[in-house]
Amino acid sequence: MWNVRVRLSSSTLLSALALVGSALGCGDSDPIDADCDEAIPITPDIDARVDFPVRWERRGDLTYGEPVVLAIPPGLAGLAFALEDPNAMAGFRVALDGDLVVDVVDEFGEGPWFHYEDRLAVLQFPMDEASGPPRGCVAIEPVLFGASGADEGTLHVMTQSGLGTQITIAPILVADTFIDDTTLRAALGEAVRVYQDAGAPGLVLDEPTTIDWPSAFVDDTTSELDQLRASVVLADERTIPVLIVQDFLEPGTFGLAAGVPGPNGVLGTSWSGVVLSVDTHLSADGTTIEAALLGETLAHELGHQLGLFHTTEAEGGEHDPLADTPECPASRDTDGDGELSVPECLEEGGRNVMFWTAEDGIRQRELSPTQVAILAASPVAR
Ligand SMILES: [Zn+2]
Repeated sequence: MWNVRVRLSSSTLLSALALVGSALGCGDSDPIDADCDEAIPITPDIDARVDFPVRWERRGDLTYGEPVVLAIPPGLAGLAFALEDPNAMAGFRVALDGDLVVDVVDEFGEGPWFHYEDRLAVLQFPMDEASGPPRGCVAIEPVLFGASGADEGTLHVMTQSGLGTQITIAPILVADTFIDDTTLRAALGEAVRVYQDAGAPGLVLDEPTTIDWPSAFVDDTTSELDQLRASVVLADERTIPVLIVQDFLEPGTFGLAAGVPGPNGVLGTSWSGVVLSVDTHLSADGTTIEAALLGETLAHELGHQLGLFHTTEAEGGEHDPLADTPECPASRDTDGDGELSVPECLEEGGRNVMFWTAEDGIRQRELSPTQVAILAASPVAR
C-alpha cells in the first residue's frame, strides 16, 4: 500500500531547494559590524567545540546576536557553527575579512549551503569542492526570525584539524521498538560496509541501547521527533545518535535526517541525530525486515546529517552542489510519472547512496570522492 521509496531529510529541505534561484538577494546587504583586530584565535591543533555566549538585540522583526569574530588559522579541514533558539527560527550571516559570504536575511538559500532560517541553524565548511574552511577573520552573526525567549543564546563552533577516518554512531531503540538482534546487526554491518567500500570514514558502532519514550511509533509531523532527539544523552558529544523507531505515525518514510548537515558535535538539540523506521523496511510478505536496505537507509541519512544533499531530487531539476556526483536529468523520466526512479537513473547516480529514492533489488553503495571528502571533514570525524 505505502510502497513509498522516499528517504526524506528534513521536510523543509525540498521547499528550500525550490526557492533557489527565485529569491536571491540584490547585493545591498548590510555589512556585519565586526572588529577583526579583536578576533578570537582558534588554534589549529585542537579538534574541539568552543561555545560562545550570544547577546540578543531586537531590530524590527528580527533579532541579531552580537557577532562572534574568530581568527581562523590556515589548514583546517572542517569548520561548523550551530545555534538553536527555543522560540524562533535561526540562521547566520557570515563575513570573511569583511565580505559577506553567507547571508540568511538577504541572500538565503544560495548554494553550496542552501542556508535559510530553520528550527536549528547550522553552517558547515566544506559543503562542496570550493567551500573549505576559510582562513583569516571570520565574523559570525546569528539571526533570529522573531523574538528569543531569552536574553542570551549559545553559538557552538566546531573545528576539525585534519580529515577524519572514523565516525562513531550510537544505535538507540526507541521504547519497545522490536527488531531482532541478528537483523539489527546485519543492517548496521551493511552501513559499515557501504562506507568502508566507498573509502569513506569507517563507522564505529556503539553497543545498541534503548531509550524510554511513550511509544515506539513516533509522530514526525509534530515536535515529538525534535523532543526525542533532544532527549538523547551520550557520554561523547561527537557520537551521532541513530534512533530506531518501529515506525512513524504516518507510515511510508524510511528514515529522517534532521538537517543537511545536522549540528554534529552538539548533543541534546532538536536536530541531534538521525531516525530510522523498522517497519518501512519490511519486505512484501510483511514479516521479513530487509536488513541491507535498512543499512543503506542508515548510510543515506548519515550522509544528510553530515552534509550531503541528494545527488538528484525527485523531478530531476535539482542536484547537489558537487561536481563529481552524477546528475540524472528530468529527461530520463521515461515512464512519464513526473519522478525519476532508480532504474531510470542507473547510469546517472541511481546507485549513489544519496540518490533521492530507493528501489527493491538495486543496491545503492556508491559515493564520489568529494562526497567522501565532505564526510571526512565533518567535525565529528576523527
Ligand atoms: Zn534523503
